[in-house]
Amino acid sequence: MPVITEAAIKDLAGFRSEDAPVVSCYLDVDGRRQVRPQDIERRLAALVREASGGPSGAAVAGDLAKITEHVASGLDRSGVRGLAVFSCAPKGLWEVVELPVPVANRIVVNQSPAVGTLESIVQELEPLGVLLVDRQRARMFVFQFGELVDRTELFEALPRDYDQTDDAGRGGHDKLQDHTDELATQHLRHAAEVAFRLHQDNGFGRLSIGATDEVAAAIEPLLHPYLRERLSPRIGVGAGASEAEVKAAAMVVEQEVERAKEAAVVAKLRDGVGAGSKAVAGLAATLGALNERRAGTLVVSDGYAESGWRCACGALAAKGPQCPNDGQEMAHLDDVIHDAVDVALTQGCHVEVCVGNADLDVLGRIGALLRY
Ligand SMILES: [Zn+2]
Repeated sequence: MPVITEAAIKDLAGFRSEDAPVVSCYLDVDGRRQVRPQDIERRLAALVREASGGPSGAAVAGDLAKITEHVASGLDRSGVRGLAVFSCAPKGLWEVVELPVPVANRIVVNQSPAVGTLESIVQELEPLGVLLVDRQRARMFVFQFGELVDRTELFEALPRDYDQTDDAGRGGHDKLQDHTDELATQHLRHAAEVAFRLHQDNGFGRLSIGATDEVAAAIEPLLHPYLRERLSPRIGVGAGASEAEVKAAAMVVEQEVERAKEAAVVAKLRDGVGAGSKAVAGLAATLGALNERRAGTLVVSDGYAESGWRCACGALAAKGPQCPNDGQEMAHLDDVIHDAVDVALTQGCHVEVCVGNADLDVLGRIGALLRY
């Protein structure tokens, strides 16, 4: 499955078409729940009917037909749970992105691709390295998009009698013990090297260690400083875990990390708004900050949708129809949040989509950390 990158999403977000509308279609094709292709086609048909009845229905008839044809021609659903299709035939845009996670079914017709959902998926699924280690074994895994993408194992036997009483007496025993400790430390050093090598191959952004407290404390100083900075909470399985156990535990770590990251951003937003410094919250103020290109990070609740306005000059507004910038009459949008995310991405702004964060809901479900 091709990997979706931030760069690819920015390219899509930057595509604009003033005269011919763009169709963005998200489809849940999760074979675990919708076993029959007809179920997927029926859902798509309902979305297409709705979009055809919209104000741009006639203009996008060709795009809708092409998407319907693509889905009817048979999807390879192995490992694919969601589908995103972006089409603007008059401008030659046709982009199919297969996703490893299900998405909410919807069709958006707009002047640019609606990429907010893609953005949140990429954020959720940054590759995670997992290092399970004890005194003799090291097992390294890399998970991406919820799937195992790489693994390697290392076994370095310690002397069989390392924990037996030594007949040669106390002095001899200490010597053997020293030697054993040295081998164990060497093994941990090798394990740290394996982790760094896989990092160079796969570029995972975070590393989670599964080990006893003692072994974890011993290996952490041996890690490459780059990996030490990227340590995530420890994973709750040891070196003997089955692959399925490792995978399940890795997903738990991924979610913990993502929720913690979101909470930190929302805390920064709340503090900034409270102090009246470099942060705004609520729809009107956030759109204002985007219009002034002052937003550095856009923070938005997952699933938040709200109607609004867009001016030909590019300005977005919560209230219309007069543009706050130039007084022109703006176009009404069913969902201005989509446009806000797209505008933010086009401006090179980071977008943090937060799942179930009550603090953000209190702030109005949207906000921005400002550059100045
Ligand atoms: Zn305007």
